[in-house]
Amino acid sequence: MADYTLPKRLTLEIVTPDRALVRETVDEVQVPAAEGYMGILPGHTPLLATLQVGQLMYRTGQQQTLLHVAFGFVEILPDRVTVLAQVAERAEDIDVARAEAAKKRAEERIAKPVSEMDFERARIAMMKSLIRLQVVSRVRTRV
Ligand code: ATP
Repeated sequence: MADYTLPKRLTLEIVTPDRALVRETVDEVQVPAAEGYMGILPGHTPLLATLQVGQLMYRTGQQQTLLHVAFGFVEILPDRVTVLAQVAERAEDIDVARAEAAKKRAEERIAKPVSEMDFERARIAMMKSLIRLQVVSRVRTRV
């Protein structure tokens, strides 16, 4: 007889072209999908979505983990979430000085755009640096 009970937890995998960052059993995942932040609980309808630049959160019990992710895909199945991100970093891997420098460069380019293309690249660089700094400060201010 078929088992119609919903899965209780999710297997989360986060990989980039360079490395596998996460392979854990979790209770909830929130991803920056192209249409906005999407909350995923066990039993979610199967779905494939694209990612934008943003914070990825996953929770196991009371323990939340935040990462910066940018672009790629998320495949959602009732008991599994697979994130194939172009870039992703855990808070502790983020180099704050590098993100500050990238933010400053992007600000200067946005102030003086040379062409449509430069503006779009600067906008993305700005988003990535802001999210990296937010991830670090949210993790640091949590007690
Ligand atoms: P930068 O202008 O400083 O190179 P970027 O946003 O152009 O930043 P990406 O193309 O997003 O960089 O990423 C290239 C690689 O560098 C990825 O592996 C990414 O994880 C890493 N990376 C980028 N910025 C940081 C940072 N501030 N801290 C840690 N790793 C970073």
